[in-house]
Amino acid sequence: MNVVVVAAHPDDEVLGAGATLARHVQDGDAVHAVVLTDGALSRYGKHMVGELQASGVAAARHIGLASVRFEAFPDQRLDQIPILDLTQHIESVLTDLEPDIVYTHFRGDVNADHALVAQAVWTACRPYCMPNLRLIAAFETPSSTEWASTIDGSPFRPTLFVDVTATIECKLSAMACYASETRAYPHPRSLRALRERASYWGSVVGVLAAEPFLVLRDVR
Ligand SMILES: [Zn+2]
Repeated sequence: MNVVVVAAHPDDEVLGAGATLARHVQDGDAVHAVVLTDGALSRYGKHMVGELQASGVAAARHIGLASVRFEAFPDQRLDQIPILDLTQHIESVLTDLEPDIVYTHFRGDVNADHALVAQAVWTACRPYCMPNLRLIAAFETPSSTEWASTIDGSPFRPTLFVDVTATIECKLSAMACYASETRAYPHPRSLRALRERASYWGSVVGVLAAEPFLVLRDVR
C-alpha cells in the first residue's frame, strides 16, 4: 500500500502520525510525507529553512519513510495563497504518489495553516480523483488540535485508534530530530508529554499506546 501524510509544517507529520507511519513501514507499506511550508520564515528567518528540512530528513530516516517532500509555500501565511492553488498543488503531488491512505490535519486546529491544508486535502481527495484512495483520516497535532477554540466548531473526537505500543519510541526519537521544535515538559511538544498522550489515548481503547484519528472517508 501507498500511504501519504500531508502536513503543513516540518514536524507535524511526526507529531500527528509518526508512530502510525512507523507501523505502516513495518507492515511493508511505502510511506511518503509531503510538507507544504518551510515552517521557518514566520518565526526564525531564512537560516532555519535548511535546518528544519535536515531535521525532517533525519526524522523520515528514523521512521523509514520512502520519501519526504518539502514544498515552498509560506509558513503561517497559507491564507495568502488562493485555496485553488494549494488544492491543485496537493492534487498533483498526490496523483503522482497514488495513495491508498492519506493522513492530514484536523480542520478545527488553532493553527490556520493546518485548517487550510485540511480543507485543500479534502478537496484534492474528492471521489473519482484518486482511484486507489480508500481512507482519509485526520490526525491530532499536539499543541494545536487541543488548543482549538470550542466556539468555532466540533472538537476532535477520534474514531480510529492505531495501537502504536511497538512504535511509540520510534516516533519519539524521530521527534527528537526536530530539536528546534521540541519543548520542555509539560509542553505538549515535549517528548514526555507525547509519550503520556499516547498512553492516554491507549488507555481509552485498552492498549498501552495509541495515536488517534478522525476518519473522514473510508471506502471498502
Ligand atoms: Zn503545524
